[in-house]
Amino acid sequence: MSEVSSVKKRIVGRNPASQAVSEIHYDAAVLAVDELIEAPDVAEYVSPGFIDLQVNGFAGVDYNDPGSSHEAIARSIRTIFETGVTRFFPTLITGSEERITGALRNLVAARKSFAAEGCSEAQAMAGIHVEGPHLSPEDGPRGAHPLEHVRPPDSEEFKRWQEAAEGEIRLVTVSPEWPETPAYVKTLVRAGVVASVGHTKANTDQIRAAVDAGATMSTHLGNAAHPLLHKTQNYIWDQLAEDRLIASFIVDGIHIPGGFLKTALRAKGVERAVLVTDAVMPAMCKPGRYTLGQVEVELRANGSVVIIETERLAGSALRMDRAIGNSVRLAGISLHQALTMATVNAARAGRLAGRQRGLSTGEKADLVRFRWDSDSSTLQVKETIVAGVSAYRA
Ligand SMILES: [Zn+2]
Repeated sequence: MSEVSSVKKRIVGRNPASQAVSEIHYDAAVLAVDELIEAPDVAEYVSPGFIDLQVNGFAGVDYNDPGSSHEAIARSIRTIFETGVTRFFPTLITGSEERITGALRNLVAARKSFAAEGCSEAQAMAGIHVEGPHLSPEDGPRGAHPLEHVRPPDSEEFKRWQEAAEGEIRLVTVSPEWPETPAYVKTLVRAGVVASVGHTKANTDQIRAAVDAGATMSTHLGNAAHPLLHKTQNYIWDQLAEDRLIASFIVDGIHIPGGFLKTALRAKGVERAVLVTDAVMPAMCKPGRYTLGQVEVELRANGSVVIIETERLAGSALRMDRAIGNSVRLAGISLHQALTMATVNAARAGRLAGRQRGLSTGEKADLVRFRWDSDSSTLQVKETIVAGVSAYRA
C-alpha cells in the first residue's frame, strides 16, 4: 500500500453543481470524486472551501496593527474556519509606509510561526492584499481610508513592501485616476501580483488605460463612490462594461442593495463575479465601540460597521457563509452560482492554483461540509477541511 492511499480520507455529500450525492476521496489533494448511483439520503452538501480575497481583520484582531500577536492572529483564523473559508488574503488599508511594512512583516512572521508548527492557519493565509494607499483622495471614492496617507502610485514603494512581505503580496488595489497608475500596474503584473481597480473616480480613458496595462479586477464594485453620479457616464458603468475585469462584491445586505447586485451580476456574468467580506476587526464580535487604528468605529446591531464621526461605512462585519446565503436571497441566483463566486471565481481572480476547477481530482482538498436551508437561504457550516486536514467541526 502506498503512503498516499494509507492516509486517504473520504467524505460524502451532495455536490451543489450536479445535486448528485458524491463520495470524495482525498488526502492533501482530491484523489477521486465518485457520483453514487445508489445514494443514501444525504442532507449535507460538500463544496470547495470558500476563498475571501479581502479580510482586514476578524474576531477582534486587526491585521493592520503591526502589534497584533501571532496567537491572536491564529485565533482569528480559527474563527474564519467556522465560516467555511479555507483560504483568505489578510488585507492592509491605506497608512504610512512604516505602518504598512510593519503590518506586512508581522503577518509574514505569524504565517511562518504557524507553518513551523504545521498548522492549517499557515495554509489559510494564501497571500496578502494591499488596498491602498494609491487611491482617490476625494470624499466618497476614498471611503474610510485616511486622507493624510493617500498618495500617488510609487513602484519603488511597492518593491519595498514586497521585500518586507517576502513576496507574499498577491493583490493590490489602486485607483486609475493617477497618471502613474499604468506604469504601476505594469510593475505589479511583472511581479506576478493582481492589480485591482478600486476607490476611484477615474474616467473611461483612465480605467481603460489601467486595464490595458494589466489590471484584472474591480474591488468591491458599487462601493467607495460618490453618492451622486452622472446617470450614464461614470466609473461604475465603465467597470461593469469592461469584460476584462472580475468584480468583487460585499453582499452583507448593507453595502449594496439587491437590485444593484442582480443587475451587476447580469452585466458581468456570474463567472466574472467574486464575493468578498471586507470584514474588519469587530466581525464576529458583540455590537459596540471598537478602535480601528486611530479611528473609533461602532458595530451596530444590524451588522454595519461605521466610523462614529462621519457615519461612513468602514468595512463590514460580514462572514462568507452569510454572504453566500445573502447572494441567493438578494440576487435570485442558485446556491451553486453563489458558491462559484466564493470559490473557483475567487481562486481565478486571486490566481490561486489548485482551486479553480471545483470538486475535481487533483484539486487541493480544501472542502466545506454544510447544511443548506433553501427557505431562509441559510448556510450552516458543519466541517471545514484545509488541505485534507479538518480545521473546524461544528
Ligand atoms: Zn475598500
